[in-house]
Amino acid sequence: MSPEWRTVPPMASVLVVEDDQFVRSALIRHLTDASHTVRSVGTALEALREVAHFRFDLVILDLGLPDLDGAEALKMLRGITDVPVIIATARDDETEIVRLLNDGADDYLTKPFSVEHLSARMAAVLRRARGSGSGEAPPSRALQVGGLTVDPLRRQAELDGARLDLTRREFDLLAFLAGRPGVVVPRKELLAEVWQQSYGDDQTIDVHLSWLRRKLGENAANPRYLHTLRGVGVKLEPPL
Ligand code: CA
Repeated sequence: MSPEWRTVPPMASVLVVEDDQFVRSALIRHLTDASHTVRSVGTALEALREVAHFRFDLVILDLGLPDLDGAEALKMLRGITDVPVIIATARDDETEIVRLLNDGADDYLTKPFSVEHLSARMAAVLRRARGSGSGEAPPSRALQVGGLTVDPLRRQAELDGARLDLTRREFDLLAFLAGRPGVVVPRKELLAEVWQQSYGDDQTIDVHLSWLRRKLGENAANPRYLHTLRGVGVKLEPPL
């Protein structure tokens, strides 16, 4: 065993999706012993419901589920979450595994697998997920600024409990600002970070800001959350 494998990953919140009661209990026992927090379900549909309601660091997904084909389940999961997924498969079929990795699985284990093997894969996947991203990793939890909640992973935003219907760019803009509440972000930085442009027209930002303002139920003359400082930048902060 390489030394790297013995690195204990920080505690993770894990969703186990496994219909075999015996395998499921064993997994839960092992993960709990390793100080992870575990929730478990036996069907793909329950798994989808879980990831829609809770934040997990990792999903262990059995491919032979009673309700949905594993590949189908993975696709649906990927439609709503970026959470790392380790596939647990009895199928020792290389083409299938390659396809699943292409479809968004982070790694796989062929059953039966040992606890050590699972720990090693988990550690590697978690390390990759936690250390990934160029520069800043996406915040793992929803951001809260006053009555505004922004969940970067689910790409959902709410104002006073009501879901905001935002375009992709509006969401990116809001999430970026919500990650730095009270900080004046220069326009140049917004262009670079949200629009991925090194130069551009201030109007682009102004137009999106005004759309975003409208959705937040405010306007430039009477700002609540979004404040523009002329010639300086933009900041998001809770209303007084
Ligand atoms: Ca199964």
